[in-house]
Order: sequence, then structure tokens, then C-alpha cells
Amino acid sequence: SQNERESLYIALDYAKKFYQEQLLQSDEGQSIGLSYFQERGFNRQTIQQFELGYALESWDAFTKNALQQKFRIEVLEKAGLSIRRDLDSRPDARVFDRFRARVIFPIHNVSGKVIAFGARILKADKNQPKYLNSPETEVYHKSNVLYGIYQAKNAIRNEDVAYLVEGYTDVISLHQSGITNVVASSGTALTVEQIRLIGRFSQNITVLYDGDAAGIKASLRGLDLILEEGLNVKLCTFPEGEDPDSYVRKIGGEAFRQYIKTQAVDFIRFKAEVLLQDAGNDPFRKAGVIKEMVESISKIPDAITRQVFFQQTARLMDLPEETLVAEANKRVRERI
Ligand code: ATP
Ligand code: MN
Ligand code: MN
Ligand code: MN
Repeated sequence: SQNERESLYIALDYAKKFYQEQLLQSDEGQSIGLSYFQERGFNRQTIQQFELGYALESWDAFTKNALQQKFRIEVLEKAGLSIRRDLDSRPDARVFDRFRARVIFPIHNVSGKVIAFGARILKADKNQPKYLNSPETEVYHKSNVLYGIYQAKNAIRNEDVAYLVEGYTDVISLHQSGITNVVASSGTALTVEQIRLIGRFSQNITVLYDGDAAGIKASLRGLDLILEEGLNVKLCTFPEGEDPDSYVRKIGGEAFRQYIKTQAVDFIRFKAEVLLQDAGNDPFRKAGVIKEMVESISKIPDAITRQVFFQQTARLMDLPEETLVAEANKRVRERI
């Protein structure tokens, strides 16, 4: 209900402020959390703008504090902030904080309300996930959310393009370098809802995924979905082992902009290059690539755009355009 959601927003906002206070004012927060962010090159203004925080190395520092402030445990639980174990078996069920000994990245909705948190461990640890995120709640539906949309939306509209990255720190580093039209899918596969959210501000997306095999695979997967929604998509890859965060820190904001300008390719070229590299000289696999290209292009809703892409693919693959169009028509017939 509206009331229930409102109570979650209030708890989430309280938690955000609590984590911020721990980061900036507690000894532990300063010596561990703040120095972590500083080592990553985040300045005070950036930390403030993204409302970054720190969760103490404690089982229940937040929950205890919130209960003292008269928040109800049911609300803290439903907001994804607190966890109760042995709920039925014991009346003195142990209550503890979901986020412990991690730096905190609040996740905002498009109007700037905190709806969830991402939390990162400070040192690599095989027994723990690097990032821990809020669970799905009444106000947090992961598949509808893009990290950074609140901070990026005006820039996306003004520059008429959204840069789509994988991670929280990519968004933050690019912002600090003056590139503010950036949002992250936060490691999950891109969804239709996320694409439509971008589409409220611009019809153009440039995908900047990590320069590793996983990043390239993920961008290929997101591609067709973007085409189907009728948005224009370009892709830009990074040198092996780099992500937008590491790369912008290496070369600076101006050079990064320039890099995207010169390196971003339209989806035809990207998909063809990635798939053809995989196919090598095997003619059967090459034929398979062409079919996959046709499949992607067939998803574009606009007929003229489709036509242009068929022409371009034909040229790139050194094939008559009619061959591609015939293949597309065959697919349509088979679907009916
Ligand atoms: P960092 O630079 O802090 O190591 P990153 O953003 O480069 O982080 P990646 O490993 O590239 O991290 O992952 C991209 C995004 O995927 C993360 O920002 C996070 O949102 C999500 N992610 C990564 N690992 C996990 C995990 N173990 N559990 C949940 N989400 C994760
Ligand atoms: Mn990666
Ligand atoms: Mn990174
Ligand atoms: Mn990364």
C-alpha cells in the first residue's frame, strides 16, 4: 500500500543518513571507508553527490540505532535493511544488519528517493560476494532500476545520449571526470524496463561494458533488446582488463570522451566483428553469423532503419543485399 511504501522510503532515507554519518564521522568509517573511497580517487563532492556511506563492522549497529529511533522491526525487514533469524522458534530471535563492514552505494529512483543499497567489501574475499545488494522489496524492483539515473537524467536529455556501464564505480568515476550522462545496469542483464527508462530522456544509447569476455557477451545480449525497443545503439569496448572507471582514471575525462567518439561503432559493425572473429574461416559458421545478423536487424521496428542496416551489412559481408532480405523474409514466413 501507499502507506507501507512511504514507511519504507522513510526507513531507507534514515539508513542512508546513518551510513553517511558513519563514513564521515566515525573513527572506523573514516579510517576504513573514507580512505577506501579516497584510494579510488573519489573526492568529497563526489562522495556527497552520490551520498556514499559506510556500514560498520558490527552485527547490529544500524538495526539497534533504528529501533531506538522507534522504527518498527517489520519495516526495517521489509526495507531490506535488517534480517531476523529463527523467527518462529525463538522469541528473542536474533536481529542483525544486512550490510556489515562494507562501503555503501545508495540506489536512487528517478526522482531521487533512496530505494535500495549496493554494498561493497573492502578487500577481496573468496567467501563473500564482492557486492551485496538489497533484496527485492515493495519499492525496489531491480529490473526497473538504473543506477545513477537521478544524477544523470538531465545530462542524458541535454546530450541526447546515455552511456550505459556495468558498475556503480564506473558511473561515479565518469561523473567526477565531467561525463555525467551515465547509468549502470549494475551487473544484471539489461531489461526492457531499463531501456524504456532511458528512452524517456534520449533515443540514443552507447554501451560501455567492461573490456573482458563477460562484458562483451553482456553487450551482445543487451543489443537485440535495445533494437527491439527502437532505440539507436552504439558500442564501445575497452582494452582487456579495463573498465570505464579504471580507464577514465588512466587517461582523463577529455581523452575518454575522445576515445568514445573515435571507438564507438554501430551495432552492425560490433556484432559482425565479434561474431566473425569467433567464426574464423569456417564457412558454415560464417553463414551462421549472417543469419544472426539478419535476426538482429529484423527486430528493428522502423522499416527505413532496417533497410539501411541491411545495406550496410551486405557491404560489410560482401554479399548482395537481396540475399539478406530474402533470409529476413524467410524468417518472417517461418514465424507465421
Ligand atoms: P569494482 O571496480 O568496485 O571492483 P566493478 O563495478 O568494476 O566494481 P564488476 O565486477 O565489473 O565490478 O561488476 C559490475 C557490477 O556488477 C558491479 O558494479 C555490481 O553492481 C555487480 N556485481 C559484481 N559482482 C557482484 C556480486 N558478487 N553480487 C552482486 N552484484 C555484483
Ligand atoms: Mn567485469
Ligand atoms: Mn571496476
Ligand atoms: Mn567492472
